[in-house]
Amino acid sequence: MERWIQEDKDAIRNPSDLARYIPLNEEEQDIIEKLCQFFQLKIPLYYLNLINPDVPDDPIRKMCIPSCEEFIVKKGELNDPIGDLKVDLNNQALPAITHRYSDRVLLHLTPLCGGYCRFCFRRRLVGNNEFRVTDQQLEQALFYIRGKDTIREVILTGGDPLMMSDTKLFPILKKLREIPHLWTIRIHTRMPIWNPYRITDQLVAGLKKFQPLWIVAHFNHPREVTSLTQRQLSKLIDVGIGVLNQSVLLKGINDTPEIQRELQWKLIRTRIVPYYMHHVDKAKGISHFRVSIKKGLKIFKELQGTIPGYALPKYVLDIPGGHGKVPLQYNYLSRNGDRQIYIESPLHGYHVYEDAPDEFTDPGSASAQQTSCPASE
Ligand SMILES: *Cc1c(COP(=O)(O)O)cnc(C)c1O
Ligand code: SF4
Repeated sequence: MERWIQEDKDAIRNPSDLARYIPLNEEEQDIIEKLCQFFQLKIPLYYLNLINPDVPDDPIRKMCIPSCEEFIVKKGELNDPIGDLKVDLNNQALPAITHRYSDRVLLHLTPLCGGYCRFCFRRRLVGNNEFRVTDQQLEQALFYIRGKDTIREVILTGGDPLMMSDTKLFPILKKLREIPHLWTIRIHTRMPIWNPYRITDQLVAGLKKFQPLWIVAHFNHPREVTSLTQRQLSKLIDVGIGVLNQSVLLKGINDTPEIQRELQWKLIRTRIVPYYMHHVDKAKGISHFRVSIKKGLKIFKELQGTIPGYALPKYVLDIPGGHGKVPLQYNYLSRNGDRQIYIESPLHGYHVYEDAPDEFTDPGSASAQQTSCPASE
């Protein structure tokens, strides 16, 4: 049996097994048992070993071991916080597809993951076999993608697409590659974090054939970037597959500039490019992971200019209800009248910048008067 499949089989799935590795009293075991009826427990031993068992609020522990705070549901929290089920160009006729942006489409291949993140925003379906994608649903989804020539990129998501075996995954990739209007394929996965053994030589050799292909890993904390996962992801990068990272800004886990700086540096030293930092979604029972946007912006302001520009991910919010992602940006500019701008430097002080005339609102501007190129007169 392949190592990753063995690792997946041996993963911790109930509180009594967990108690053999992590000190838990009976009450804690009882709470975990109850919580797992709503959103199951699964932690591969590789990941469990990253926990410092003596520290109760260890960040790695909080990401994978349930806490009683998950019972708390706050006002405004939703089953489907990012509106997977709402705004959809295919009107939800196809369960395997979420089509919101005309050029990109999400293809959900499986509800299963390598482990279950306690902050998961798709917990309404993730880990639940009722949401298994049938062969027929998959064929219908592929038919839809073939028929819509505005689609340029298919984003495989889930669950975790790399939970599928190579023999299931590769034929799907092959069918996608045969669609002429599709330019890129993207795979979103947390397998390199939960179970890095998944990146087998066979997977690397197989994925190499379907380029241009992007892998988006989901590292949240620098301690998740182990030498094993670095070695494994390097194999994909060595054959020319682009590896990006997206993370979630999580309270008590990665909500300081210092931890963020360490995470992003570790990523670029592995040649992984930071892509997105998600503001945590309003899923039910995850209020204990939520930081304010104000705090998020403050962290980003401290990162600006103190790490390489390409190491700084975009901070984004998925507007609840399916209205899309929006960049969250600290506002460094303020206007005084039309032309004068005050700029706050991320390094030091405030500075005045005289802006160019606005060609649309300023009728006296040269570009507004000019109707043709001076060189052509
Ligand atoms: C996030 C998301 C995408 C991908 O967006 P990018 O900005 O290209 O990463 C596509 N479709 C949906 C529905 C999404 O939520
Ligand atoms: S890997 Fe993603 S989809 Fe799976 S449990 Fe974690 S956050 Fe949810």
